[in-house]
Amino acid sequence: MQITVNQTVIEIVCADITEEETDAIVNAANSTLSGGAGVDGAIHRAGGPAIMAECRKIGGCPVGEAVITTGGNLKARYVIHTVGPVYRGGGRGEAALLASAYRNSLKLAVKKGVGSISFPAISCGVYGYPVHEAASLALQTCLEFARSSAELKLIRHVLFDERTYDIFAGKLKKLMT
Ligand code: ADP
Repeated sequence: MQITVNQTVIEIVCADITEEETDAIVNAANSTLSGGAGVDGAIHRAGGPAIMAECRKIGGCPVGEAVITTGGNLKARYVIHTVGPVYRGGGRGEAALLASAYRNSLKLAVKKGVGSISFPAISCGVYGYPVHEAASLALQTCLEFARSSAELKLIRHVLFDERTYDIFAGKLKKLMT
């Protein structure tokens, strides 16, 4: 399912992000960039040790910001590591931080000349962000970015399970009407 905004296709799919063929994939990392469970572990496993070697050199990444490394053995040339907020009820700036994580990943992609990028559902796993709210924020932030910048040709939201996909699909449908 997709929409075109300005010159950018925004697409949602139900798939494994480690198999994406976009120029960059985004990792939902933690602030120490030391790897972990979920999508982070899957990306490091599939991409090999070159990604962690660069993460160690970078040293860390504050919540809401993003850094970039090689894609190692992945099909994607780059991995953009961003850190979403841990959800603690919604009153601790989580929404602004989650939007920043998406926005700063998009900005970094453009800076590196990336034409296509894939996102996981940042903060929607271990970090506990309610998927309905996270989906609205993710799609809205990418939509706004696409309206103001024509450099990215494709933004994919790669959702790992059907429930998350269905929620993103529902939100995207609303945005299309
Ligand atoms: P966070 O700590 O930011 O919550 P998680 O990795 O725990 O990060 O979860 C983020 C989302 O990524 C969840 O929706 C989870 O189901 C999903 N996910 C886990 N593995 C993959 C994968 N291989 N491809 C795409 N999404 C994945």
